Amino acid sequence: MYERLWAETKPLYNQLHCYTRTKLNQKYGNAVQPTNGPIRADLLGNMWAQEWGNIYDVVAPKGVGDIGYDLTDLLVKKKYTPEQMVRTGERFYTSLGLAPLPETFWQRSQITRPQGREVVCHASAWDLDNKDDLRIKMCTKVNADDFVTIHHELGHNYYQRAYKDQPYLYLNGANDGFHEAIGDFVALSVTPEYLVQIGLLDRNKVPSPDKDIGLLLRQGMDKVAFLPFGLLVDKYRWGVFDGSTPPGANNQSWVDLKRQYQGITPPVPRSEADFDPGAKYHIPASVPYARYFLARILQFQFYKAACDMAGWKGPLHRCSFYGNKQVGQRLNQMLAMGASRPWPDALEAFTGTCEMTARPMLEYFAPLQGWLEQQNRGKQCGW
Ligand SMILES: [Zn+2]
Repeated sequence: MYERLWAETKPLYNQLHCYTRTKLNQKYGNAVQPTNGPIRADLLGNMWAQEWGNIYDVVAPKGVGDIGYDLTDLLVKKKYTPEQMVRTGERFYTSLGLAPLPETFWQRSQITRPQGREVVCHASAWDLDNKDDLRIKMCTKVNADDFVTIHHELGHNYYQRAYKDQPYLYLNGANDGFHEAIGDFVALSVTPEYLVQIGLLDRNKVPSPDKDIGLLLRQGMDKVAFLPFGLLVDKYRWGVFDGSTPPGANNQSWVDLKRQYQGITPPVPRSEADFDPGAKYHIPASVPYARYFLARILQFQFYKAACDMAGWKGPLHRCSFYGNKQVGQRLNQMLAMGASRPWPDALEAFTGTCEMTARPMLEYFAPLQGWLEQQNRGKQCGW
């Protein structure tokens, strides 16, 4: 299933890779980034080259690429505090009819980095007593990335609370892709129209439909670019665990997988004296990673189902189901099942289908894919 989902999405990734490589070549020249072969990892604006949104300004097409607002700027200009950002995230969930977070959440969470002691800043969500003691642990900064991360972490908390009455062994997501997908699916609803509804964006600043390619490219640089990385982290680890990657090839195997799946190459020679995979939090922390790949696919399935329920008629990427109680009720039915049923049953409870599929993700990005194919015409894509 894992391979099938990747096969469904790979043509879209290849187009994005091809287009991004051309733009990087134009910016840095042949000596730094040739027009063919893999992309140099250090040019993509992310330490693991896993999400490329940070270099959106490099790839943004003239005119339609300027989507007219920057979420980080909006948050800063409106003087949002980290706690206000979390309150705003909570309000999305309560708008669906789900209960507010308990008072202890606000007393006991770590929302910003504490002074005078070391903490792990990697964002996480916790349910300490399997009842009501929900918390997040973050070092929130006032920016767009953390705004989305807040929705993600709260998705974990809302899931945890929804299934708290299940027997002990079922206190979990339907599969761990589900747990990672809930908050992301909610964050897909952070559309320009939603930002207007919550007073962050002026109505006259909502990007016109000709800016949709810009909006989608900005999303795709994160969501689509991530797919092969999400796939390869556990492939790497499984190779180490089952011995097919010998101890003397711990770094080379990582470099090879990044080249094979992502089309990414390190900027300098690597050797077994390096341990690049160790720089990815989830490797030393032993956190499974296939969940993030599955979540990328699932979140669009959930999103499409919610938008259908809400009666949305426009292009999928403009849909926001903020405030829709029917979506909230159906969502809660799925969440409350926890791990008590096989995951296809949980999927069916919310989306009406028991099959995991990338089709909604491809529908979301269809206008972008067509546009990328045009831009890449005549180019030798692939690596
Ligand atoms: Zn998570």
